[in-house]
Amino acid sequence: MTFLERDPLAPQAWFGNLPAAHRYTYGLAGERFFRALKDEGKILGSYCPKCDRTYVPATAFCERCLGELTDWRDMGLVGELHTFTVLYVDVEGRPLETPQIVGLVSFGDGGIVHFLHADPESLVIGMPMRAVLKPPHERQGSILDIQYFEPFQA
Ligand SMILES: [Zn+2]
Repeated sequence: MTFLERDPLAPQAWFGNLPAAHRYTYGLAGERFFRALKDEGKILGSYCPKCDRTYVPATAFCERCLGELTDWRDMGLVGELHTFTVLYVDVEGRPLETPQIVGLVSFGDGGIVHFLHADPESLVIGMPMRAVLKPPHERQGSILDIQYFEPFQA
C-alpha cells in the first residue's frame, strides 16, 4: 500500500522516538521574575489595582483587563498548599524508586507547581509551605532554583 492509497481519516500511529529541540524564552515579565529568584532569592508577583489581583509568577499584563502591570511585589517564600498529588511513575511512565509529591503552592491569586518534601499523610490543604532555595551560587534563573516546598511553621 502506498501513502496515497491510505485512508486519510483512519487513526494514525507513530512508533519510535521523535527528536525535538526547542528554546523557551521567559519574556519580559518572566525574565524579571527569574532574575529576582536567582539574584535575590525572591518570588515576585505583579498586582493589578483595577482587578485587585496579584499574579504569581508575575506577569506583564493582567489576564482580565489586559492592563499593563507595573506594581511588582515580593511575595515572600511562604505560600499556601492549594493541592497536591503523589507520583509513582515518571513522565515516561517508568516506576519511580521513591514516590514524589508535586503540589500547587498558592501565592496571591496564582501559584507555583513544584516538588514537595513532606510526608503526604501530614499535608493539609491550606497549610503554609515554604520555598527552599538552592544556595545563591548554584541558582541558574530557573524554577529549579527552588529545590522544593516544605511545610512551614511560623
Ligand atoms: Zn486587571
